[in-house]
Amino acid sequence: MRRFLILVALAAVALLTVAEPWRPTATIDVTGPVVGAGTPVPVTVRDRGRGLASIDVRLVAADGTATLLAHEDLPATSWWGSGVHERTLPVRVDTVGVRDGAATIEVWATDHSWLPRLWRRPAATARVTVDLTPPSVTPTSDPLVVTVGGSAFVLYTTDADAVRTGVRVGDLVFTGVGGYFADPRLHVAGFTIPPSDPDARPDLFAEDAAGNRRTVRLAVTVRPKSFRHRELDVPDDFLERKVPSLLADNGLPPAPTLIEGYLVINRTLRATTEARLRALCAETLPRRLWEKPFLRLPNAASLSLFGDVRSYRYHGQVVDTQTHLGFDLASVRNAPVPAAEAGRVVHAGPLGIYGGTVVLDHGLGLFTLYGHLSQIAVAPGAMVERGEEIGRTGETGLAGGDHLHFSTMLSGVHVDPREWWDGHWMRGHVLDRLTAHPTAPEGSAG
Ligand SMILES: [Zn+2]
Repeated sequence: MRRFLILVALAAVALLTVAEPWRPTATIDVTGPVVGAGTPVPVTVRDRGRGLASIDVRLVAADGTATLLAHEDLPATSWWGSGVHERTLPVRVDTVGVRDGAATIEVWATDHSWLPRLWRRPAATARVTVDLTPPSVTPTSDPLVVTVGGSAFVLYTTDADAVRTGVRVGDLVFTGVGGYFADPRLHVAGFTIPPSDPDARPDLFAEDAAGNRRTVRLAVTVRPKSFRHRELDVPDDFLERKVPSLLADNGLPPAPTLIEGYLVINRTLRATTEARLRALCAETLPRRLWEKPFLRLPNAASLSLFGDVRSYRYHGQVVDTQTHLGFDLASVRNAPVPAAEAGRVVHAGPLGIYGGTVVLDHGLGLFTLYGHLSQIAVAPGAMVERGEEIGRTGETGLAGGDHLHFSTMLSGVHVDPREWWDGHWMRGHVLDRLTAHPTAPEGSAG
């Protein structure tokens, strides 16, 4: 009798333990209400008792259709259970059979106790809207011609749910602008084929909030262009005058030698300056503030052209090669610098190798840069008129003498200014294309 009672007690203990009442809990990490093909929806399942036995993640559509998104079995590794107390599954909704629309994500989980199996409800649910359809993106049929280093503008229509659109050329991204034309679906993006990557070809893309992205190869005629090659001497007195102060002003450590410091400036600081420029030019006005050929610094000689490949010689040895992506224009010392067209000041102050710099946004992704200024006459956010004095030429930054470094840019990527000084080119390649479509009330020039 006593042995029987002990057996009963042991059986009761075993039963209660195996039937531990802690059922698995789950969390669904949904970042927004809309989930797309690229949206990760990580699901984490936890169990306090004998460990997880199985996990099912399902998507249940409004009509009750269920699709299995993820499944995992966690078999027992001992008499006690699986010993797995937490599991995160990298769930996505882009499974065959899933359709767009309202749906519920359900997480079903079991552990190695039999008791919770009696409870037939999911461990977690999340209501979502599934959107697996990328926005459409269709270029208009106008033929596109672009010269390497030159500018081109593509017009295209895209869906209202597109949040990021534009043109990608190699690893460069050119932001598309909506809201300029009366047709809200019509967008415009300016782009170039950079001299550093003349074989790259443009792709038009549109991406929605759910991360669905459509990419279309643009039909474009690319005209090759050859650029000059020049050799520049880097004298010691120039290095003494420039290197220590440029390193210090830009938060770079002192270099063991002047030429090593110069190479840090010419390579690293040049690259970080360009990255800052692209960030400054990521946003643009959805208006066209340009109409006439861009103004060039008056009575100035071109010391250096767009696309010049420069080899830098130190004590007779070539120590570096870089591409010059603007025009160096020299007039008298401290010459007044006119704004090339009407625009909004997006930067007015030091900017890496360019020294004292003004950057203007002329709208629709087109910007100009004025570098090496000795004085700056405008403040960020101000609107300037065509021809208004924005500063004075100088030799701040990486400049050996008083001159203006002038750049035209699309989305912060340098393009050849010669096209923008040429009214005939502007009309034939850009203005006729843009003015063929009615603009929104705020989009017109002025
Ligand atoms: Zn320059």
